[in-house]
Amino acid sequence: MGRFTLPRDLYFGKGSLETLKTLKGKKAVLCLGGGSMKRFGFVDQVVGYLKEAGIETKLIEGIEPDPSVETVMKGAEVMKEFEPDLIVAMGGGSPIDAAKAMWVFYEHPETTFDDIKDPFTIPELRKKAAFIAIPSTSGTATEVTAFSVITDYETGIKYPLADYEITPDIAIVDPKLAETMPPTLTAHTGMDALTHAIEAYVAGLHSPFSDPLALQAIEMIFDNLKASYEGDMEARDNMHMAQCLAGMAFSNALLGIVHSLAHKTGAVFDTGHIPHGCANAIYLPYVIQYNAKVCEDRFAMIARKLGLPGVTDKALTLSLIEAVRKLRASLGIVSNLKDFGVKEDEFLEKKHMIAERAVGDACTGSNPRETSVEDMEKVLECIYYGKDVTF
Ligand code: FE
Repeated sequence: MGRFTLPRDLYFGKGSLETLKTLKGKKAVLCLGGGSMKRFGFVDQVVGYLKEAGIETKLIEGIEPDPSVETVMKGAEVMKEFEPDLIVAMGGGSPIDAAKAMWVFYEHPETTFDDIKDPFTIPELRKKAAFIAIPSTSGTATEVTAFSVITDYETGIKYPLADYEITPDIAIVDPKLAETMPPTLTAHTGMDALTHAIEAYVAGLHSPFSDPLALQAIEMIFDNLKASYEGDMEARDNMHMAQCLAGMAFSNALLGIVHSLAHKTGAVFDTGHIPHGCANAIYLPYVIQYNAKVCEDRFAMIARKLGLPGVTDKALTLSLIEAVRKLRASLGIVSNLKDFGVKEDEFLEKKHMIAERAVGDACTGSNPRETSVEDMEKVLECIYYGKDVTF
């Protein structure tokens, strides 16, 4: 049996933030990140719209990037005290992810973080509050997904919480918010979205429901990402929709080993943090080469949709790899980990450990090609030195 779950309502387009005026409720918490939403005036807008709806709002501010278990627990305490019937989360992936986890502990104070670490262990929500997500970056698509990444800084482990219970009730995809993104963030989040769509299209649980969403997202990203990076705001608006479509696909079809590797390499090198979308951008062409052994026909379908040259599946897949490389280069992103600045000594010392961890990542199970530690290590070597994956 398959399952396909999305938010009940999706409001999109410029000015769709205004739909908050029509919400029914008494009290809302508004969960926010570092302060850019306030600076650009969006917090005042949200509070104003909620006020028009007769809703009292309390702010939970300063949710950090890669939110911690402590931040989640503190936020849940605020919610227990204030007793909101609406949880509104606005910003990049982090405040929305953190708010999803706060929601769980608000509804179920008896639950511990340990209880919900495994996929599909989150107890039933929506007895106390509904959840509204408003993204300001165009990448994670957490506004429509069943995922939330919370970091335990004591153990240094990132927990990807996964359960359709935490799929938001309402997503508001207003491109005006994304127009505030600086170019590098636009490039990285955009390549994250492209990776979501391509991995979802070939992932273990892909279905006739997720496929069209993934293909549409891929086409829109190829048509708009470079221009969006260069400051074209119409393209920026299109990217905000495209990343959301990609999210709808991958929340249901799941991902693959580009993400497994990005999760395990992001913070592991002393030579520098690799932003999530940047890591995906670097790794994606190598993993397409690796996965082509088992699903070349699917990559060829993507290439056909993009109108890329080639007749055979093999030629079309090569065209797709070339197109991803070209897009990546146009965004100023390097093509291998050596050029990114990771030192060779450190790479050689850590590659086996990274490969082991990546095989254990939640995304590896849905990768189309089964991946051993040995394979993962070989792929990683290609990614470091910039060599083609030929096995
Ligand atoms: Fe991602």
